[in-house]
Amino acid sequence: MAEEFINSRRKSSKPRNIKYNNQKLVLTLFRYADKLSVSEISERVGLSKTTITKIVGDLLRKKLILSAGKGDSTEEGGKKPELFTFNPTYQYIIMVNLPSNQVQVHIMDLKSRLVSQYTQEVEIPESDYPSCIQCAADAVVAAMKNFGIIGQQVCGVIICGDGIVDSTHGVIRYSVHHSWPRNLPILQDFASLLPFPAPIYIENGGALSGYADLLDPENQSIHSIIHLSVGQHSGGCVMKDHDLQNGSHGFMSEFGHIIVDPHSSLSCICGAKGCFEVMVSPTVVLRRTGELLTEYPDSAIASAAKSGTLTMEELFAAANEGEPCACQSMDQVIRWFTVLIRSMVIFHDPQKIIIQGVYQKAGSYFLDNLRSTVVSTPLFRTGADLLIDYASFQSNEALIIGASYYVCRKFLDNNQLYD
Ligand SMILES: [Zn+2]
Repeated sequence: MAEEFINSRRKSSKPRNIKYNNQKLVLTLFRYADKLSVSEISERVGLSKTTITKIVGDLLRKKLILSAGKGDSTEEGGKKPELFTFNPTYQYIIMVNLPSNQVQVHIMDLKSRLVSQYTQEVEIPESDYPSCIQCAADAVVAAMKNFGIIGQQVCGVIICGDGIVDSTHGVIRYSVHHSWPRNLPILQDFASLLPFPAPIYIENGGALSGYADLLDPENQSIHSIIHLSVGQHSGGCVMKDHDLQNGSHGFMSEFGHIIVDPHSSLSCICGAKGCFEVMVSPTVVLRRTGELLTEYPDSAIASAAKSGTLTMEELFAAANEGEPCACQSMDQVIRWFTVLIRSMVIFHDPQKIIIQGVYQKAGSYFLDNLRSTVVSTPLFRTGADLLIDYASFQSNEALIIGASYYVCRKFLDNNQLYD
């Protein structure tokens, strides 16, 4: 796993500091592997066994890797090789999520495994940004105490932002879900409230969920991916050469607010009408399915939708069985996805589009028809090899995996680790 990524790191390494780069390369390999011997590492990274033995010794001394017993297979004249493994609890990653009236803190190890979670209800006005981030900082401290770790055991804190996030400068430019003022220097503010020094990052939550796609073995050889998360709210990210693409102002992943129907009267949370987010939101889709009852008076699906008892899963199942009303409803959804995906193709020309969230469970009717509709006109038929697929991870799992992997990559890149 991750050979492509590791190779890309090797290629991008500057020879300025060979020691750092070699140690970084070996530690990165350990992050993705289970157990490795000196010979295996030597083969995979193309460095001599003598060099690897020295690096392994250094990493062992720092406790970044651990001894993992002897291998089963014999090598080097029948001797069982000594094995080593990444130390996932060398430090921990903290993720802070700020949904309405709540602070959620997740603690993950360096292998992106969730080890503890802590939720605190917040009883302050939505617009009170200073109190909100004070509560978030308090919740981080409480979560760490609860789990039993101190500041030195934290390699990074990541805040999941919503709306327009400038991750480069650590600023929330515009929060869609909180009534906060614009252009808040949240990283600076948050750092001043945490009682320990740790690198702090902010990224859009949708982008972090997409970041998990980079750990999917299926995506290792794919260099340009667009991740689209769809639910009551939509977002995503653009990834090129195994890394996130950030624009100049944080707008890049706001796919939900591309207007797919300029004639729609449906208002979006962003203030516009006919945005993708609102056109494919489960509430709107189920309501529209109910409106099809006049056209399909015998449809149990339309009837259930009209009475407010239909679920998206039931709609998907009916479409997959060919129920005409469900198919017509899903055809409308496919139309909005097609408008968005064609825009993505023109702006970013990706190799693959990955869909996560509500429609991840839609099955073959949705996916097969979406794939064919996107390439159904002469211009787009030229890009018929565009991959469109469902994400391997579910949304909640993806956020935890993606956010921790994001911080872990920063951790592995830190040269101070290799001094
Ligand atoms: Zn919008």
